[in-house]
Amino acid sequence: MTTAAAFEVKGWCPGALRPMESGDGLLVRVRPWCGAFTLEQAAGLADIAGRLGNGHIDLTRRANLQIRGLKDADMPALHEALDRLELLDPDARTEAARNIMVGPLAGPEARALAAELSRALPLDLPPKFGWLVDGAPFTIVGERSDIALCVTDAGVAVRRGDRWLGVTSRAQAVAMASGATPLFAPLSEVPAAGARPPGIAAPFGRLEADQLRALVALAGKAGASEMRLSPWRALYFDADIAGAESLGLIVDADDPLLRIDACPGGPACRSSSVDTRRDAMRIAARGFAGTVHVSGCAKGCARSAPADLVLVGDNGRYGVIHRGTSRDNIERTVAPEEI
Ligand code: SF4
Repeated sequence: MTTAAAFEVKGWCPGALRPMESGDGLLVRVRPWCGAFTLEQAAGLADIAGRLGNGHIDLTRRANLQIRGLKDADMPALHEALDRLELLDPDARTEAARNIMVGPLAGPEARALAAELSRALPLDLPPKFGWLVDGAPFTIVGERSDIALCVTDAGVAVRRGDRWLGVTSRAQAVAMASGATPLFAPLSEVPAAGARPPGIAAPFGRLEADQLRALVALAGKAGASEMRLSPWRALYFDADIAGAESLGLIVDADDPLLRIDACPGGPACRSSSVDTRRDAMRIAARGFAGTVHVSGCAKGCARSAPADLVLVGDNGRYGVIHRGTSRDNIERTVAPEEI
């Protein structure tokens, strides 16, 4: 048994001010404020993706949005457009520090806390340092983060890494951004994530610019004002949206495509020698049981949790792993046509 080929681990995340080279051009990550884009911002991002990028938009596992296929020469126009949408940070360090995931269903108190935290963040955090803010109904509290702040009836429950420290005031929770240690009261009940409502999902988290534009139009008609992002790549609106399935989006919680994760793979990602999403679609069309993860390489960008079947690209073939992650030992390899 072997593990999949070594992969490149980057010590930084892309941003609008720090694009990343990919197989299909430059990739930029746009971070929403407090976990949501206004409809105007979402429409503006669709326009940017269609006009400056290659039209592909990826929803990420950290509840951000990525625009692909840009060129160096597009950067000034990109920054101007993002600035007009109030989505451009003053500099790359500020942008990188603003790594806060917010529960898509969290109420106004949690979102106000996220807004305060965004303003208080220092610039000298370690690379990829991530915050999480959630509030009832809790949905993302189980996600990985360096610090998690959960608004409860008793105050803000704080978790550092995997360890719950207690409950503190909102002001003291925000002061943690500048290194202060809050006074904690004991936590009577650890916040736990409840069921996730289905939301509106795109197959493998990939939206096309026209789809996003049309979805924003439906949301506007329904009276929504914003689009919230989630780490499971479903979108949520503050109104009931009708007709999203006619855009090729997923609204049924039992849709089998929600049980398959696939990263962009080749040719969009240079680390992949296989076309992951094409092959994932073939698996979906044939029918399958359990969960499947099709990964272009062992890095496993699309999923870190184990899946029942994992296929990991390596030299034009797939390594097969059962009940594991893309970094586990490969049992055997198969050609894409054999899947
Ligand atoms: S997992 Fe997929 S997207 Fe991530 S680096 Fe590997 S091939 Fe690229």
